[in-house]
Amino acid sequence: MERTLSIIKPDGVAKNVIGEVIKRFETDGIKIAAMKMIHLTKIQAQGFYAVHKERPFFNSLTDFMTSGPIVVMALEGEDVIAKNRKLMGATNFEEAEQGTIRKDYATNIEQNVVHGSDAPETAAFEIGYFFNDLEIQKR
Ligand code: ATP
Ligand code: MG
Repeated sequence: MERTLSIIKPDGVAKNVIGEVIKRFETDGIKIAAMKMIHLTKIQAQGFYAVHKERPFFNSLTDFMTSGPIVVMALEGEDVIAKNRKLMGATNFEEAEQGTIRKDYATNIEQNVVHGSDAPETAAFEIGYFFNDLEIQKR
């Protein structure tokens, strides 16, 4: 069993597709192990995306991620990191496969509806960033 962090970004919440995104996870057999809606501060967004701090889009990305509420979820299942990224589609929605979340709902390369951890180590860091021991079972 693997875990990954999923975020429905401010554009996804604004577009009223929270239920649609969650339905795609559940239809694929993915379990939601923890979930909440929060509104990040700039500092909190910068901490979450610290790996991207040298990238040219860092300031714009962290502004976007603080522009409205987000839904954060810990997803659980076999091979869930790869499964989630397949459901999400490519970062750039124009390159994403038909039927993926980003292909269906993204606005541009930045406002691309969802985030998903890209490896077990980043998943562990990201789940720990948002969920404490009362909110998700240690394993
Ligand atoms: P995420 O980490 O959100 O799951 P990802 O792993 O597909 O997405 P990353 O390369 O980690 O993509 O980039 C993180 C996020 O930064 C992207 O999801 C997108 O919102 C934004 N981003 C990435 N590349 C660009 C870019 N060239 N211009 C603007 N924003 C970008
Ligand atoms: Mg990434």
